[in-house]
Amino acid sequence: MNKRDELIVGKAKTVYTTDDPDKMIMHFRNDTSAFDGEKIEQLDRKGMVNNRFNAFIMQKLEEAGVPTHFESILNDQESLVKRLKMLPIECVVRNIASGSLVRRLGVEDGLELNPPTFEFFLKNDDLHDPMINDYHIISFKWGTQEDIDAMKDLTFKVNDVLKKLFLDAGMLLVDYKLEFGHFKGKLYLGDEFSPDGCRLWDAETRKKLDKDRFRQGLGGVVEAYEEVAHRLGVELP
Ligand code: 5GP
Repeated sequence: MNKRDELIVGKAKTVYTTDDPDKMIMHFRNDTSAFDGEKIEQLDRKGMVNNRFNAFIMQKLEEAGVPTHFESILNDQESLVKRLKMLPIECVVRNIASGSLVRRLGVEDGLELNPPTFEFFLKNDDLHDPMINDYHIISFKWGTQEDIDAMKDLTFKVNDVLKKLFLDAGMLLVDYKLEFGHFKGKLYLGDEFSPDGCRLWDAETRKKLDKDRFRQGLGGVVEAYEEVAHRLGVELP
């Protein structure tokens, strides 16, 4: 599959068109960003680790019946995906309180949430991805009621699959962000699933194994991502 034009340059990935109008190539760069792009650094091997990690997770989700845009891994830093029409929405499920939830509601960091909670955010860096609700999505036509129902169903289904997968490997899936898009009339999981977009803690020590290491300047960012991959049995060169 040949790369054609640069379609989107995101904060950590570049997306290219291909010879096939239905397919795109996602290139995972080594760039690591936080705080809506205010902090950016190059971290060796991160693009490769996230590409391989994402491929592994997307395949697990497909096997569990979650439709994803993932088609195949092409090389160390690139994967072939379906060309979705993305909704400008981020879906977040939280099993444990942390991050913005703690700042917004003043609840204790590490508090177990039973049942898990769900939030929508608008994907807009200039506005710092504000939280939105179902009514905003309908009123501003960012999606339909059917999209809302499907996003909630699929995001919770992902939780069922991944919470167990990580726990079996000694990790707690604290929270994560998913993005969805349409392809030929159906909703698919798009974007990526990697330690850049979720929180993972060691189940025993609660050591952070995700992008909070970068956000909080804790160091050992890629080493933590590689440890997560290793524990799950993701093969890395
Ligand atoms: P929070 O709302 O606590 O900042 O984030 C909740 C979860 O969603 C975290 O796992 C965080 O990594 C992820 N998340 C939220 N917004 C973004 C985003 O814009 N980009 C990425 N990569 N992850 C996000």
